[in-house]
Amino acid sequence: MNNPPVDESLDPADWEALRRLAHQAIDDGFDYLQGVRDRPVWQPVPEAIVQRLRQPAPRLPQGAESAYGEFKELVMPYAMGNTHPRFWSWFMGNGTPFAAVGDFLAAVLNPNMGGGNHMPNHVEAQVVDWCKEIVGFPAESSGLLVSGGSMANFVGLAVARNSRAGVDVRAEGVAAIPRTLITYASVEVHSCVQKAIESLGLGARSLRKVPVDAGFEIDVDALERMIVEDRAAGRQPFCVIGNAATINTGATDDLDALATLCDREHLWFHVDGAIGALLALAPGHRHLVRGMERADSVTLDLHKWLHVPFEAACVLVRDRKAHREAFALTPEYLERTERGLASGALWFSEYGLQLSRGFRALKVWLSIKEHGLDRFGRLIDRNIAQARELAALVQAEPDLELLVPVATNIVCFRYNPGGLSDEQLNALNEELLIRLHESGIAAPSYTTLHGRYCLRAAIVNYRTTSADLPVLVSAVREIGASLPRP
Ligand SMILES: *Cc1c(COP(=O)(O)O)cnc(C)c1O
Repeated sequence: MNNPPVDESLDPADWEALRRLAHQAIDDGFDYLQGVRDRPVWQPVPEAIVQRLRQPAPRLPQGAESAYGEFKELVMPYAMGNTHPRFWSWFMGNGTPFAAVGDFLAAVLNPNMGGGNHMPNHVEAQVVDWCKEIVGFPAESSGLLVSGGSMANFVGLAVARNSRAGVDVRAEGVAAIPRTLITYASVEVHSCVQKAIESLGLGARSLRKVPVDAGFEIDVDALERMIVEDRAAGRQPFCVIGNAATINTGATDDLDALATLCDREHLWFHVDGAIGALLALAPGHRHLVRGMERADSVTLDLHKWLHVPFEAACVLVRDRKAHREAFALTPEYLERTERGLASGALWFSEYGLQLSRGFRALKVWLSIKEHGLDRFGRLIDRNIAQARELAALVQAEPDLELLVPVATNIVCFRYNPGGLSDEQLNALNEELLIRLHESGIAAPSYTTLHGRYCLRAAIVNYRTTSADLPVLVSAVREIGASLPRP
């Protein structure tokens, strides 16, 4: 074995050189963001570029400068595009320049947020408290920053399962639960909820999908009937999930009615507010999420409408004790001391699956301080107004068809020149969307509503201006007219 030279380290041999490179990286990063509008939203990655990336793991130093050069050339031009003003795919935030600096500083301090007595833990506690304020949760409730809405839903539902199972699930496992635990959510619920239910050992079939009304909101009467049926059949209804804005159409369930139902039926009420919890900040639309504050647990995504760079989400749980009891496990090597680094009450590892955790709280804390919550609320209202503008532009064109009334910021429409079946229109619009992406002009995504494939623009974008909307409409009509009829 070779012994390393005595002075070998991962610190730079030349701090000044790395400092210059880092300054250059900041300049390049900000140039990239300032010029984002002038580039295509997205472009396909050339195979030759992928091939150049494919290399055996380097055994010898290549050096920071050369590695950075490859990043700039191979990676930077072919990013996903969600920083662009005309990116409206799925449901993604833009990130912000200052929060990117926050990610850098978090890595500089590089604390492990599993626990311990240090200031970064207080920053996370502060951010969680702000999330409670946003949602209207009591100060004594608990919460945790997690990677995204999927993990937030998982944590909330794990607490629900453990506290309502009637047996000690942690000790005995789900096999000891006497009656099948049933969860209810509308057919529009996000797929990650099913993943959570499966991973919790409850089985996908225990997730009852409740029908929706014409506005894609949960049918509360149907839900009540399903609960009665399940009880009559010897099963145990235990949890209802309300959607604060759905991923397909942006519809929000009647959360107040669901809260009342859950109170009466003694069911855990979880709100998937990955999208909509932040509507509470928007003066024009906060009424949509009335009742969210009555939930037992709530998911908020911060990398969506709060535009924090990936990854950042928060789960809130009303009952702090139940939350901790679902996850705390403290072996000797993690025991607290009265004083010193291993003291303190903030051990976030006792509230979720992760032991080692990153300082994602910092970029959230800095962003909220930089802009103030009211600005985020106004930008949410503006995105919703833009969705209405887009819907009006769509409705003004005879060859475009709006497929569902706009509930919030999601517009579902298709190119429909007339005389074609739904099946033909589906094929036509699928090809149209791919060509639109390849054009680099705009990037909506797609969904299928009642068997009809449609283009779906989710406007979660503080860079979008009203002038961007007709650009999409014209591009769709031009590409549509140029396509051969199926
Ligand atoms: C995005 C989304 C999720 C999943 O969140 P991730 O952050 O992608 O894990 C869950 N529910 C809804 C309604 C969503 O929009």
